[in-house]
Amino acid sequence: MIKPQSTQPIQSSLPSVHHVLELSIVADLIAEFGKPLVTHAIRVTLGQIRDLLATAGELAWAQTKEENFILRIKSQLAELTDMSLRPVINLTGTVLHTNLGRAPLPEEAIQAVTVMASGASNLEFDLSSGFRGDRDSHLENQICRLTGAEAATVVNNNAAAVLLTLNSLALRKEVLVSRGELVEIGGSFRIPDIMARANCKLREVGTTNRTHLYDFEEGLNLRTAMILKAHTSNFKIMGYTRAVNESELVGLAKKVQIPFVIDLGSGSLINISEFGLPHESTVKETLSRGADLVTFSGDKLLGGPQCGIIAGRKDLIVRIKKNPMKRALRVDKMTIAALSAVLGIYEDPARAVQKIPALRMLARPEIEIRAMAERLLPLVASKLEANAVVETVACKSQVGSGTLPIDTLPSAGLAISPKSKKRGGASLKLLAAAFRNLPLPVIGRIHDSTLIFDLRCLENEAPFIQQLQLITIKRPTDK
Ligand SMILES: *Cc1c(COP(=O)(O)O)cnc(C)c1O
Repeated sequence: MIKPQSTQPIQSSLPSVHHVLELSIVADLIAEFGKPLVTHAIRVTLGQIRDLLATAGELAWAQTKEENFILRIKSQLAELTDMSLRPVINLTGTVLHTNLGRAPLPEEAIQAVTVMASGASNLEFDLSSGFRGDRDSHLENQICRLTGAEAATVVNNNAAAVLLTLNSLALRKEVLVSRGELVEIGGSFRIPDIMARANCKLREVGTTNRTHLYDFEEGLNLRTAMILKAHTSNFKIMGYTRAVNESELVGLAKKVQIPFVIDLGSGSLINISEFGLPHESTVKETLSRGADLVTFSGDKLLGGPQCGIIAGRKDLIVRIKKNPMKRALRVDKMTIAALSAVLGIYEDPARAVQKIPALRMLARPEIEIRAMAERLLPLVASKLEANAVVETVACKSQVGSGTLPIDTLPSAGLAISPKSKKRGGASLKLLAAAFRNLPLPVIGRIHDSTLIFDLRCLENEAPFIQQLQLITIKRPTDK
């Protein structure tokens, strides 16, 4: 429909708003968004394309193809209707990227969410008695079976799990924590701050690099209500270090009859050493060694929805559930549906690696990723020919979300280096921005003056190839 002819001034060959409104494909958009908004979106899109043709010249021709043009109108409509939250393609190489929404859900969980979101459910209704039920009841048996815990409860995220546990079991009392574990986990989760907001008194013991059992023993007094161990998930202290091992803390906590709680952070249900990652204790192993409670995230290594799971001793879970703060931190029916579906997959661990996207991506063999890189190389290289040199590269993926920060997985991807090296990386920034500004944004990672696309998380290349057709790169001089 829209065929600019090079013999005419390009701008004049763009269709009119009126003409676009008449297209049959636009009728669907009018039905969905209403005519005023669609008209506005067409006007804005035509304006953008006019600008692109003026500045990016030939690279912008693809934009005038009908399907690409419609995609732009749709993305404009998405912006106008305030759908600020949008899907992106994660090529950062960080599998559980907190800023990119962490774990994608398995199909089974998506189905379960759809069903529960669509109507009424027995969320807090006991079908056998006809009386009020407990929303945790839909998950507790599964969690207990998979972790060996006596009881469990689920809240909004792991930060909430830690907050609620502290506030329920150590209100106005003291909590012993090793100085080596006073961690900050990105975006303002700091153990000391959480402790203060939970209205507990933090009692630091030992030193940053070394803590001994006697440090804990000396820290104890009549006001001590808990020993907390936090997984030092996003940093590693190396060299002259010593941490008190869990079994010693279990023994000490038992002796003085206070709970020993471990904030696991990631909390895996299966042995991740299968993926070439170092062994991390599973939730079950941690509980079997004698921790009274553990807390962990639903959307880290578990690969499920955002939530925080607290599992362990029944009497402690009962106290936690009585805390009025539980109500403020509870999960909704969609989270319960998704988590239950994910836990269902774990009942057979062999299925977990196939069905749970986060695990499947972590387990994805390097050779398969490299083959994909080689397949995509010619497409990307020819598309970016005027602007950049593209090569395949060996790279390292990370688990993300603070899990195993030092350890990486061998992976492969594309390295895109701008041909123009002027102006302090301006070309590189424009390149990254062009991919970010696509209707389905493609997010890579900048390393050593190149834009790296680690392909570990690209399970399906079709959407990426489709987006590639839409790319237009401004020259550094363009506005
Ligand atoms: C990630 C993490 C948290 C916070 O978990 P969220 O699910 O992001 O709230 C708390 N503690 C540790 C050790 C973590 O790794």
